Amino acid sequence: MKSLPIGARLTLWYSAILAVVLAGFGLSAYFGMRNSIHRTVDEELQARVEGVRGLIERTSRYGDAEDLRVELREHSELRGGGALLEVSDEGGNWLYRSAAIREYELPIQNASSPTTIVFKGMPLRILDASIAGGNRLYQVQVATPMGDFYGALSHFRILVLVAIPLLLLCAAGGGYWMSRRALAPVDQITNTARSITVHNLSSRLVIPPARDELQRLSETLNEMLERLDIAFHKIRQFTADASHELRTPIALMRTRAELALRKPRDSEDYRATVSQIHSELEKTSELIEKLMLLARADSDAEPLQFCTADVTEVAREACAQGRILSEAKQIRFREELPQGPMPAECDPQALRRLFLILIDNAVKYTQPTGEIAVSLGREDGFLIGTVRDTGIGIAAEDLPHVFERFYRADKARSRETGGVGLGLSIGRWIAEAHGGTIEVESSAGRGSVFEVRLPLFKQRLAAKLFTTG
Ligand code: ADP
Repeated sequence: MKSLPIGARLTLWYSAILAVVLAGFGLSAYFGMRNSIHRTVDEELQARVEGVRGLIERTSRYGDAEDLRVELREHSELRGGGALLEVSDEGGNWLYRSAAIREYELPIQNASSPTTIVFKGMPLRILDASIAGGNRLYQVQVATPMGDFYGALSHFRILVLVAIPLLLLCAAGGGYWMSRRALAPVDQITNTARSITVHNLSSRLVIPPARDELQRLSETLNEMLERLDIAFHKIRQFTADASHELRTPIALMRTRAELALRKPRDSEDYRATVSQIHSELEKTSELIEKLMLLARADSDAEPLQFCTADVTEVAREACAQGRILSEAKQIRFREELPQGPMPAECDPQALRRLFLILIDNAVKYTQPTGEIAVSLGREDGFLIGTVRDTGIGIAAEDLPHVFERFYRADKARSRETGGVGLGLSIGRWIAEAHGGTIEVESSAGRGSVFEVRLPLFKQRLAAKLFTTG
């Protein structure tokens, strides 16, 4: 059953339920009718017995058996002569038998409650009673032929037996047609969804006009396609950018090597070329290392090593390096770190890298005589780290993009400073892997402030949220 299409399954279920309902209806109608006929006939039999009882009791008071016979005949003929009535005395001698019952030769059956018997092929409903009259006891038997009633019942039974399967057949056909109609849009959705591949991910399903489940299904699938489209676009862009970034230094190194090999040179020249190639190689391997880090981060294969570490110490180490870089560029460097240790659950290596990315950028994009300030503090279970500079700042149109991979606000200047636009993407990944955020406030020419906000203790924070939420 499970392998059948939904339409067929629905029809089968619907037909099975309808079959049970119709069978229930047929049976209860049949038995209801039979009971109602029996009740009516039985009431009539009872009334007739009571009539005869009255007659016997009355006649016995003044007359003999002959008077009673006459009274019984008159009583019976009053009812049209067709009544089935017979009365015998204690000895079993017939006192009276109506003309209609005489044909049957029906013996007294002693049925104290109404009973159906088949006598000589004829169904009869009979009722017997012992009635005392004077000092004698009479056996009275009344009967009603049931042939016509049972004939009608049997017609009804045949009708029900023929009508139910016919009705079921019509209902199943109609049900199947309706379910096919209702499910037709699903086939359409399936066909469209099947035709969407990597090459036409921007295609979308047609949204059915009715506000129903199928409309919600199409909308949900379209939202999923949208997310896939964006993800694919990012991957394509990343691959294209990565190959472009790798091609440039490799082409540069190749040209340098070819130039050096073109004619014999002295060792000084070779030294200079090898040193240039070496410096390009260093930058390239740094780029490859960053690319691999992001690729591993994407596939969740870059697990951070969480432990309880002193963030003050981590920041102090990063500041020490930052100070050297700043002083080399005559930039003032200020650090506002807490006096004591600030324990936090973190990956100290990754956190140091995050601070260094921000400090390195601040140095790269701040002119000599500018100032850089690094601060660390805590607020509501979060550590807040800020790196502030008085550098060139970031234009409003670039701000939303600076955390994107390979994004450089000023490509020429950034390349000059050795940036490829991956630092902040790595920084954001580190912050988010710690369950935190990184934000920037900046405007062109007025410096920038990068703020990192990380929960001090991830698990404890999660547990707190769990118990209070
Ligand atoms: P890059 O390696 O090029 O510095 P990042 O991802 O670290 O790449 O930064 C992306 C871009 O954001 C940079 O190219 C630069 O334009 C801008 N940027 C980052 N930090 C700063 C800053 N402190 N001041 C001005 N611009 C910045």
